[in-house]
Amino acid sequence: MASSGNKNINAKLVLLGDVATGKSSLVLRFVKGQFVEFQESTIGAAFFSQTVAVNDATVKFEIWDTAGQERYHSLAPMYYRGAAAAIIVYDITNQASFDRAKKWVQELQAQGNPNMVMALAGNKSDLLDARKVAAEEAQTYAQENGLFFMETSAKTATNVNDVFYEIAKRLPRLQ
Ligand code: GDP
Repeated sequence: MASSGNKNINAKLVLLGDVATGKSSLVLRFVKGQFVEFQESTIGAAFFSQTVAVNDATVKFEIWDTAGQERYHSLAPMYYRGAAAAIIVYDITNQASFDRAKKWVQELQAQGNPNMVMALAGNKSDLLDARKVAAEEAQTYAQENGLFFMETSAKTATNVNDVFYEIAKRLPRLQ
């Protein structure tokens, strides 16, 4: 737990990734501890906030959950510019969503804040039987591109808080 006299920082965080990879579900799990089977599509983007205690600091994440549809692509820079962190989400049962995640990584590397903490989240890790993307492949890609990688499940809550905690730990302002 954070103690008194600690550092309080705000960190803008953006979620990017294909539609239906589980971005909204990850946010709902992290912010409210809930999961719904039929999550409605996000229109444009939605805003949430949640705090995480790390060592002697409290990080208040200001979370922008973006819509994955291509028609909203031109809006994305508005959300990732100035962001301290990004979670790029793909669905482990969908190869195309992994390819799309790599495109987001390239775009952030070219146009995002150079100090941005980037996480690659392979979501729906509960659907092991339908897996299309090997964890090893994603791990290697992440390592080569300076991201950290975790497989998550918004459904079972596996690794969801952990992704946000790991990001908080890596924020340059806490180093
Ligand atoms: P978004 O478009 O990326 O925000 O994706 P949503 O959060 O709307 O999720 C798309 C669908 O995948 C919904 O039906 C969710 O219930 C489902 N979903 C999201 N996360 C998971 C997960 O971790 N496991 C499983 N089995 N389904 C998930």
